[in-house]
Amino acid sequence: MSGIVYLVGAGPGDPGLMTRRCLELIATADAILYDRLIPPGALDGARPDAELRYVGKEPGAAALSQEETNALLVDLGRAGKRVVRLKGGDPFVFGRGGEEAEALAAAGVPFEVVPGVTAGVAAPAYAGIPVTHRDSASAVAFITGHEDPSKPGSAIDWDALARFPGTLVFYMGIRNLPLIAERLSGSGRDRNEPAAVIERGTHPGQRTIVDTLAGIAGRVEAEGVRPPAITLVGAVAELHETIGWLERRPLHGEVVAVTRARAQASGLAERLRELGAEVVETPAIRIEPRPVDGELRAAIERVEEYSLICFTSPNGARLLFDALGTRDARALAGAAVAAIGPGTAAALLERGIRADVVPARFVAEALVEALADTELAGRRVLVARAAEARPVLPDALRERGAAVDDVALYDTVAEPLDDGQRAGLDRATYVTFTSSSTVRFLLESGVRPPDAARVVSIGPVTSATAEESGLAVDVEAERHDIDGLIEALTADATARRVPA
Ligand code: SAH
Repeated sequence: MSGIVYLVGAGPGDPGLMTRRCLELIATADAILYDRLIPPGALDGARPDAELRYVGKEPGAAALSQEETNALLVDLGRAGKRVVRLKGGDPFVFGRGGEEAEALAAAGVPFEVVPGVTAGVAAPAYAGIPVTHRDSASAVAFITGHEDPSKPGSAIDWDALARFPGTLVFYMGIRNLPLIAERLSGSGRDRNEPAAVIERGTHPGQRTIVDTLAGIAGRVEAEGVRPPAITLVGAVAELHETIGWLERRPLHGEVVAVTRARAQASGLAERLRELGAEVVETPAIRIEPRPVDGELRAAIERVEEYSLICFTSPNGARLLFDALGTRDARALAGAAVAAIGPGTAAALLERGIRADVVPARFVAEALVEALADTELAGRRVLVARAAEARPVLPDALRERGAAVDDVALYDTVAEPLDDGQRAGLDRATYVTFTSSSTVRFLLESGVRPPDAARVVSIGPVTSATAEESGLAVDVEAERHDIDGLIEALTADATARRVPA
């Protein structure tokens, strides 16, 4: 059976700009040969048994030569494999995809080309710079800046570029930028024409610098711009000022560490990303469901007898239903249901139960208050909670005469950070704590947030745990839920931003 090689563009860096075709092919490939500039997490969807191989070229690093890569693609194709050759941006725009396709064609190996979103269009777009514009740019040229323009025999016609009636977009041009700018203006391009450099385009750390053709190289040097970056020369560069959008998002440039358990982190992480932050997931804890035996089993068996059931976390809600086994929401039909906050209420609703009581403040004390008018004397009450929860709620209910079964559904256990996660935490500008256990387990594992990071707590209980462990809290949410935490963090970042 003959294999096939796909030459696939993975886009400029934002994982959301990978095409549907690209994701499908990654998910089904036998082998993936990839470069350095592919989006973070691009290979997450690969088959567990797929062969993943880095074939990028890095200055100074021993990697495959282009000929070796071509030969490897041919060999794998001939061996009957389904091969994805994954490249940053578009495979046929300064990606050497043309050479690889030629090698495959010459060897008679079937191949397909999957275009990608190219950096020369995407980075300007994320900087608010349209590469063409009805008023000011009717053409665009993509140029390699890799070539030293002072070398004789350059393949680039600089005089023609100087006269080119439209936007010039240089790839790989940061090192040579002083020479490129000099050469263009020396050949007659207006020294005052706007120019822009976009570093790490479409990534959360994107940075755009706009100046004139004469001034741009000095600015890039002064501000320490590093590859990958796109250089653009043209009147459209000025539009960054008016329609630049990415860099204006409230958390742009912030690196936010999320310490909550991986299973719960995605909602928070997603919202922070939408606000412009780079999110590093550094889960300090993991939820470990308890086996359904002993007290828990007894409570589940007579769950119909409770007149009130209190849920103190979304996990508790989900796990109680799991523990019901073959039974369902109807087992809770006779009980009033109290949820500590909206997340817990939402988890209940997913299973068909609308909570009767959700307090305005999401702490155990508030739940006790919210139950003030509920007759409890002589009633059976189930508190479905985490193993190491504070006893505030069961104690208060007992005081009011209830017969309380206080049952732990799960343990919260430490999740040690791996090296990558530690490195991520060290870069954080904000570290978020959504519960006391995230604080406690992170610190107990010997890891501390970096001094430069602002520490954000979801509420007073979490803050107290932090302060007890000698960790100063910089920001505390006014509303003790995820929305409240995001609001407080965003307000802090906005207030601290130096006005432009
Ligand atoms: N095939 C790729 C280009 C590869 S050449 C594409 O179509 O985008 C590598 C050059 O692309 C880098 O030197 C840089 O100039 C540019 N580049 C790639 N990713 C970039 C990014 N996220 N931001 C800015 N420039 C980028």
